[in-house]
Amino acid sequence: MTKSDANKLMPVLFIGHGSPMNAIEDNEFTDEWKKIAKKIPKPKLILCISAHWLKDSTAVLSTANPKTIHDFYGFPEELYQIAYPAKGSIEYAKVVKKLVKSVDVKLDDTWGLDHGTWSVLVKMYPDANIPVIQLSINPSLPLETHIKIGKELSLFRSQGVLILGSGNIVHNLGMMRMNGEPFPWAIEFDEFVRKSLDENNISNLLTYKKHHYGKYAVPTNDHYIPLLYVVGASKDEPPKFFCTKIFYSSLSMTCVAYGL
Ligand code: ZN
Repeated sequence: MTKSDANKLMPVLFIGHGSPMNAIEDNEFTDEWKKIAKKIPKPKLILCISAHWLKDSTAVLSTANPKTIHDFYGFPEELYQIAYPAKGSIEYAKVVKKLVKSVDVKLDDTWGLDHGTWSVLVKMYPDANIPVIQLSINPSLPLETHIKIGKELSLFRSQGVLILGSGNIVHNLGMMRMNGEPFPWAIEFDEFVRKSLDENNISNLLTYKKHHYGKYAVPTNDHYIPLLYVVGASKDEPPKFFCTKIFYSSLSMTCVAYGL
């Protein structure tokens, strides 16, 4: 690859999405999401790996007009009224199936855009005029396979596709405290992951369970796994961090960008 080609690579992003309320609030996090969208060339397509599409297989959303899924309970009615009417792309879904070699990717027309995707995109791209597809997470795959799939998808970066992982590095809903100070373990684990990303220490990322606070920070790894796709799609680029804050005591809002 020539240098000029490398310069054209789309950045790859991990967004700590936190509460669905971010979709209707304007706060320090959503301000940063909006800012980052302005720094990125307008994508031709967005491929989102959301913590909220878990399946026993790896599937890609293959529908022309994806529905908006309100996959949460007990939130204000206003949130259930939001529609994110971006188009999908059956054509790109087929390309995903072709690019990914390490697992068999199934084409899926039953899912839509879940809140891991739209609660972020409604702030980043409120006009919803960029097609969006999603890739499901199969939590039973070995962790390194998620990195591998991210690497296979990284070819998309030279084609104007924005690869977006949406989850949270620290995500412990059971210990959440609405107005509480951050737990020290949450701060320490988030710092551990950022340091590992800085050093491109993949082994640390894959063995996060061995960290003494791993079981508190990542009690289930659905919100952690999207980060592995983003790491896989990066190419020896230094990570840039933003929104590095612990919210509700036990959720880290940390976002990571490569290639910016
Ligand atoms: Zn979530």
